Amino acid sequence: MHVSLSEIDPKNRIYCNRSLNMRNIKAVGFDMDYTLALYKPEEFELLAYQETLKKLVNVGYPESILGWSFNTDHMIRGLAIDKHRGNIIKLDRHRFVKVAYHGFQELSREERRSLYDASLAQSYEEPDYALIDTLFTLADAYLFAQLIDLKEKQPEHIKKTPMEIYRDVRHAIDLCHRDGSIKLKVAQNPGKYIKRDPALADTLLRLRHSGRKVFAVTNSLWDYTHVVMNHIFGNDSRQLNFDWVQYFDIIVTGAAKPSFFMSPNPLYEVDPETGLLRNTDGILNSEAKIYQGGNFKQLHERLGVSSGPEILYVGDHIYGDILRSKKELGWRTMLVINELESELDALAKFKDEFKRYEELLQLKDDLDDELQKNQLELEQIQKSQPKTKSQKQSSVEQLQASIHSLLQKRDSTREALRRSMKKYHQNFHPTWGQLMKTGHQNSRFAAQVENYACLYTSQLTNLLNYSPNFSFRSARDFMPHDFVHD
Ligand SMILES: [Mg+2]
Repeated sequence: MHVSLSEIDPKNRIYCNRSLNMRNIKAVGFDMDYTLALYKPEEFELLAYQETLKKLVNVGYPESILGWSFNTDHMIRGLAIDKHRGNIIKLDRHRFVKVAYHGFQELSREERRSLYDASLAQSYEEPDYALIDTLFTLADAYLFAQLIDLKEKQPEHIKKTPMEIYRDVRHAIDLCHRDGSIKLKVAQNPGKYIKRDPALADTLLRLRHSGRKVFAVTNSLWDYTHVVMNHIFGNDSRQLNFDWVQYFDIIVTGAAKPSFFMSPNPLYEVDPETGLLRNTDGILNSEAKIYQGGNFKQLHERLGVSSGPEILYVGDHIYGDILRSKKELGWRTMLVINELESELDALAKFKDEFKRYEELLQLKDDLDDELQKNQLELEQIQKSQPKTKSQKQSSVEQLQASIHSLLQKRDSTREALRRSMKKYHQNFHPTWGQLMKTGHQNSRFAAQVENYACLYTSQLTNLLNYSPNFSFRSARDFMPHDFVHD
């Protein structure tokens, strides 16, 4: 079967940053949460949020917060929390802060520039900043903003510093994921919280039939993994069964990524019936399929791969799934970005608006160039020795008038451009704009995708649109000087 790329809906394509020939891939691995299993954020994240509120009240936050609600669309991936100042910021690929909010209050251009002085070359990373880089952490950001907002409006209710508030939120959310508050509810009714993609089983089967080993490496523990996999592979009965295990050659739970890609961890065999762990002394039994912990070495051995680039790993978390596996082991990587679908929708829908915005940008640049030319000419005349004084006077006056009118035009165009850019971005997201851009630069999130993901796509079942031996090719690289002879 040969499908030309243009026949695939852009939303179901796989995009390539770094060329990858699938013929060289011997094993394909998957993360579980938000990769194999796509959650319904409006249900799942809401559950996490509500459970977290209860825990915050337990540690002294006012009971009134129990009445709060969570707008799951308000935050986006790629933002950073400024833990000291109580702000949430969006950065471009050069680490300029382009949008900043204190709670839900937007900072003015001047405030933003004075707080985030570009000359300080901050890294905007832990421990002073927290990156919102998974869909799980959208709730962290929203709750943090709500509490900062409350602190500003009713300081008598919250005496803690923004840093303390951040720690409390993070700790409470973490606790919900660990203590069963979330897991038990999901186990009772997985269909309420997790989507089911009917193409999932076929996608994995096709890879296996093509001779690839298929594996899962998840940080979730066995009990939760079992519940989630049962649901996504189509078991509707209340009774869990092991049918889903057939789609994998090996399943590693409790993997503690990203440390799984770097340091040795104890490896246990999981007894699927009882969930009990058996010590392995680091040796993989050729019969057993389900493990907890361990690290990449045992996995490589068991998969029969001799080097990292023979593995393609698919995950949704740049830091936990993609960055280390690529940097340390040379695994090839595919990042799942669910948001790509709506991003592509908006790109198509507002194409004409983008053209008008680009024309305005060009006009502003032309006016800037013209202005500079005039200013230079004026300087030269003022320095020169003209034949007559009046000649010099009239040239100077002409140029000054031209500069004056150019300045006015340039400023009004600049203002129109700013408005048009803001409006264009708001088509993507009313608060934060386009996921992959800030202004007309790539966002920091986009830069990370470019650097660490060989491939990226909206969902992993898009693999079904390509032959298992497909050769993904990246676009040619360009630098600004490549275009001078055009
Ligand atoms: Mg994940």
